[in-house]
Parts: sequence; structure tokens; C-alpha cells
Amino acid sequence: MKICDRCNSKTNIYKMSMFNTQMCCMMCLEIEKKHQLYDKAVKEELNQCRIKNFNFKGIGLPAGFLAFSKAHKVELKDFFDKNMF
Ligand SMILES: [Zn+2]
Repeated sequence: MKICDRCNSKTNIYKMSMFNTQMCCMMCLEIEKKHQLYDKAVKEELNQCRIKNFNFKGIGLPAGFLAFSKAHKVELKDFFDKNMF
């Protein structure tokens, strides 16, 4: 059991965020995928791998991400309640 770095929920499954080095639960990871800068974050990660910069910490959380996350959490919560637990 682990606590999500971003939302403080208990979770069994977690991965590193694409935006920064936080270890996030599946809900938070789904939310960040919806963000318009997610593709950019993924591309930048790939670019940094290509130039062998393995210490890349991500492009950082986009401005206003917290509000974005809150807005999407409501819609995703239903989905997760039905499908994951
Ligand atoms: Zn989370």
C-alpha cells in the first residue's frame, strides 16, 4: 500500500507522473492524460531519453493543474467506483 503523492489517496497501483516525479495513483494518471499539455510532456520525455538525459524531471505540472484535476476528478470518480474497486 502506498499513498498517492498528488491526491493522498491510498493506492496499490501507481506510476510516475509524466509532468513531474510524483508517484501517482491511477485516477491522477488518468486525469493528467486529459490535459492539453500531456502530449507535450510525453514527447519531451522521449526527447530527453534520446539525448540520454535520464535525470529529466518532467516539464513540471502545468499552471492551474490543481483546478483542472478537481474538475475531472468528479467525472472520473464514478467511472473508477464502478470499474476498479
Ligand atoms: Zn492520486
